[in-house]
Amino acid sequence: MSIEAEQERSSGKEQPAEVCPDCLPDPEELGWPQPAPTVANRLGLVKFKPDSNSHLRIINGEVCRHTCRRKYCTHSCPAQVYRWESEEKVISIAFEGCLECGTCRSGGCPYGNIEMRYPRGGYGVQYRFG
Ligand code: SF4
Ligand code: SF4
Repeated sequence: MSIEAEQERSSGKEQPAEVCPDCLPDPEELGWPQPAPTVANRLGLVKFKPDSNSHLRIINGEVCRHTCRRKYCTHSCPAQVYRWESEEKVISIAFEGCLECGTCRSGGCPYGNIEMRYPRGGYGVQYRFG
């Protein structure tokens, strides 16, 4: 025992319990730390019930073709709903996978060239939390 510890002991101060590292449970056996859920895992909790009609629409294809050089929507949409079809020179819309986050109508297209509505009631993305 160190001199300081002996002085504290003799002064009547309570000593903290000594912890033996070998007696502590193995964190791996406890499954600790739990891995944080990845975005992919979280999105695995999401279900889709696509409507028959798209709730997303490009307002003016000419703007996509001639004005918008960087095709921003293909980068800003987290679900990669928009794709530039270079042969046809159009933006294709995989509306079935839309997460309804609203990015594409609030800056995701700097030209305001996307009309986004919400799907009919009971259709679209269905979030589950787990
Ligand atoms: S960002 Fe807007 S203008 Fe550009 S390609 Fe997409 S929808 Fe068209
Ligand atoms: S609402 Fe969100 S997920 Fe749906 S198309 Fe727009 S940016 Fe993509």
